[in-house]
Amino acid sequence: MNSTISFADLGLAEPLLRAISEAGYTQPTPIQAQAIPHVIKGGDVLAAAQTGTGKTAGFTLPILHRLLERPARERKAGRPRVLVLTPTRELAAQVEESVRVYGKHAQVRSMVMFGGVNINPQISALGKPLDILVATPGRLLDHAGQKTVDLSGVEILVLDEADRMLDMGFIRDIRKVLALLPKQRQNLLFSATFSDEIRGLATGLLNDPIEISVARRNTASELVQQGVVMTEQSHKRDLVSHIIRGHGWHQVLVFTRTKHGANRLAEKLVKDGLTAAAIHGNKSQSARTRALSGFKDGKITVLVATDIAARGLDIDQLPQVVNFELPNVPEDYVHRIGRTGRAGSPGSALSLVDNSEIKLLKDIERLIKRPIDRIEVSDWDPATMVRKQAPGAAEEERRHAEPRGRRNSAGNGRGRAPARKPASGRPGAQAASGVATGSRDGNRRRDSAPSERNRHAPAERSARPAPDNARATPRQAALLSKTSNA
Ligand code: AMP
Repeated sequence: MNSTISFADLGLAEPLLRAISEAGYTQPTPIQAQAIPHVIKGGDVLAAAQTGTGKTAGFTLPILHRLLERPARERKAGRPRVLVLTPTRELAAQVEESVRVYGKHAQVRSMVMFGGVNINPQISALGKPLDILVATPGRLLDHAGQKTVDLSGVEILVLDEADRMLDMGFIRDIRKVLALLPKQRQNLLFSATFSDEIRGLATGLLNDPIEISVARRNTASELVQQGVVMTEQSHKRDLVSHIIRGHGWHQVLVFTRTKHGANRLAEKLVKDGLTAAAIHGNKSQSARTRALSGFKDGKITVLVATDIAARGLDIDQLPQVVNFELPNVPEDYVHRIGRTGRAGSPGSALSLVDNSEIKLLKDIERLIKRPIDRIEVSDWDPATMVRKQAPGAAEEERRHAEPRGRRNSAGNGRGRAPARKPASGRPGAQAASGVATGSRDGNRRRDSAPSERNRHAPAERSARPAPDNARATPRQAALLSKTSNA
């Protein structure tokens, strides 16, 4: 947070200052301090900022200010003045919710639209005047095709999590949307990283932008304690259940690589007496919304999510993230752990790692530039605690969880048990590039989403004997006990 500047210093209108104060914010975050005055002046912005930095208010507040400052001469049905594009439904819903929170005294009408739900209620909502539209690209184009939305009055365009939109294959849709917008407009582009692709997009889109970068790229939050537990893939469900129950964790987001894995884990946790729900692209929007709100309200202890479904989830002060499997792409690890340790609260991220994932682990450690502590779970004894599996189940397990993409050198599991390193490095330290991967826009391209693709990759390894996970070192115990208290 910026220690000297107040929201009032940024020049925001009174109805917005009132809403900010009601939201309990006392000072602008660095991205807000930099972006707000520039956006108020009408400038373009290229910002490297992840979820958790306060970026949403960083663009929403000055946009609301501009709308208040220059009221429309006439407001037409279905013709927004501001368009915010996001990669996923969840992020779209959250951004629009922020618009409502910050704009509650501003008499501005906003609407969210995304795919995977009935289009008719959206069509009726578009029948009224509209100021801010938050949309995923696919559904927006559906509406544009049906002429239920008119984008010719857009004065400000925001591309939120633009890097993810590109990752998810939305570039053509984005270009189609751009072609429907007036040439003269203000453009704000937010991205976790400034890749060459993003720079390419920005060059064609932005007009003399200021560049803001608020978090070092690919560094993990100082506030997140990180640890790794080496284990067999086939033991993970029992282990995660054991850890959550044993430590009394009350709000845990668990990432699995596959939808199938998410379902199976949630079922197992429920059997073990925990309240758990799975969210992924095959669940209906209403099931996902229900699970998410149950999780936020504390009615659901464990939310099991694929990367894609977890995209853009903003859960205040989430204490605990568990990686049931490591993600294939090291950057996604940083995005995942960015779900915790946010907005000044401590958090902890524990990864369950099978031998086949060691290469992925090394890639992650290289990316975050530090080793992650290996943790042994003191009261865990797989010999007695792992539920007996049907013959072939371990193989099935592995087939579903097999790392993909970078699999070939990921240790093919023949022979040695994982080298058990002593606790190394320091827990904590690094930084969140903060963005997890997300759900598809509706159901359109879900199959090509990177994290849920090729589920049925061939198994490469045979099952190995269980490692003997035993005593925790004091530091390791501290990580687990700390996370349990968080
Ligand atoms: P975002 O990066 O936009 O996803 O925001 C992350 C979280 O920070 C959200 O829960 C916001 O409510 C919160 N937040 C945004 N701005 C501030 C601020 N100035 N002070 C405290 N919390 C904030």
